Amino acid sequence: MKAQHFIGNEWVPGAGGGTIDVIDPSDGAPFDQIARGNAVDIDVAVRAARAAVGPEFSGQWGRLSALERGRLLMRLSNAVLEQQEALAQLEARDTGKALKTARVDAIVLARYFEFYAGACDKLHGETLPFQSGYTVLTLREPHGVTGHIVPWNYPMQVFGRSVGAALAAGNACVVKPAEDGSLSLLRVAQIAAQVGFPPGVVNVVTGYGHEAGAALTAHSGVDHLSFTGSTATGKLVGHAAAERHCPLVLELGGKSPQIIFADADLDAALPAVVNAIAQNCGQTCSAGSRLLVERSVYEAVLEKLAVKFKSLRAGPPAMDLDMGPLVNQKQFAQVRAMLAQAQSDGITVMARGSVAAESPARGFYQEAVLLRDVPPGNALAQREVFGPVLAAMPFDDEAHALQLANGTDYGLCAGLWTRDGARQMRMARKLRCGQVFINNYGAGGGVELPFGGVKSSGFGREKGFEALLGFTTLKTIAIRHGV
Ligand code: NAD
Repeated sequence: MKAQHFIGNEWVPGAGGGTIDVIDPSDGAPFDQIARGNAVDIDVAVRAARAAVGPEFSGQWGRLSALERGRLLMRLSNAVLEQQEALAQLEARDTGKALKTARVDAIVLARYFEFYAGACDKLHGETLPFQSGYTVLTLREPHGVTGHIVPWNYPMQVFGRSVGAALAAGNACVVKPAEDGSLSLLRVAQIAAQVGFPPGVVNVVTGYGHEAGAALTAHSGVDHLSFTGSTATGKLVGHAAAERHCPLVLELGGKSPQIIFADADLDAALPAVVNAIAQNCGQTCSAGSRLLVERSVYEAVLEKLAVKFKSLRAGPPAMDLDMGPLVNQKQFAQVRAMLAQAQSDGITVMARGSVAAESPARGFYQEAVLLRDVPPGNALAQREVFGPVLAAMPFDDEAHALQLANGTDYGLCAGLWTRDGARQMRMARKLRCGQVFINNYGAGGGVELPFGGVKSSGFGREKGFEALLGFTTLKTIAIRHGV
């Protein structure tokens, strides 16, 4: 599959002939190449997808029953499970994530296909009460061709949740993976072809965001866009979609708070708090990157957390430690710059993890860092670091906790740790975000649970059954038949 796109169930060389080196984050050395796709490649892929759907859904894919779509998705799920180890190894090499994280990603990818396989033939419209002499019904129809722009932090999981739902709803997909996370998705597209998806249903075009990505967002043959990535790029995608009135879902960044009250079960809370920022080396949109602790237990919580942070180790994916390296030089420089800023702003480092001595010198390794007393207005409390950096601050009461929790431009997730049931519901209702986890965080990935943000974290929902609604358009049919 070296340096080629996967279009129409075939390996296709890029029209421009250019390539992009694939860098191994564990040692900074190139180990493969992907094709540098351009607008011509995107056009070829969109045409392939359009042909699969066919005019008025008359194509090989467009006319397939929901039951048959579900069976194909189930075959894909099983095939991914059979190849999970190879996919995980590929993902770990490409993105630097620890093998244990990559293995979970491969299993979750299969789980998304399984969930959406079962959902295909449960998606339906309604009949609506209307004036007498009429029958009114709604149909849930696919958009047609959907475009998917995928980030490098969880290529397989994001592919599963957005492409899985789009396929279940009956769309044909054109996927533009991130430059730093393309290899696994090319392979998954090939597996989809092998299990029987018709040509043109799952297409992957690799390349840079400003070239292949921008061409996908601007293509008039794309009927819906799904973007997961940075808030800044999300704005560009939103503008491009608005130019041609293309519906879209935007899954952007977050600065999600973990809120610990004095009555919390700390034995349950603290491992989850650590995992929420160490997982995938902090490169998770829903990372719990802010820690808000009730003042009476603030010192005790920080002392306990410091012990845990000091034990966190980063190293090459093959060592399978708590964290791998960061994904690339750009991300490494960004995290370092934000930590340097924290230092010059006088913010105290409460604890640091370590980097394994065996790690190659040119890899992008960043130890975990716990910062304390971060001023709420400081960049470390407001901006996404996208690295293993946790910003802690105390709060005085419920109102103060809410003010801090809601006091950023983001609104993706929140973790709430308290035994007080009434407070759980008061807080959950007032938190401005898309998901609230009470006495847990992340809910084990939550394939079934709608996910998405408010404010600068984006709009629209993926995951769960809700995603299927976004990947369809609703048609109302009013029939006047008389009484
Ligand atoms: P990015 O938003 O630039 O890239 C995400 C995807 O968008 C990639 O596939 C990229 O090729 C594509 N893209 C880039 N420019 C585009 C354009 N003009 N039109 C269409 N598509 C385009 O993210 P990045 O530069 O790889 O990472 C930078 C920051 O983004 C990170 O530091 C992090 O804060 C954030 N990020 C967030 C998530 C998330 O899940 N919320 C994921 C990855 C990165």
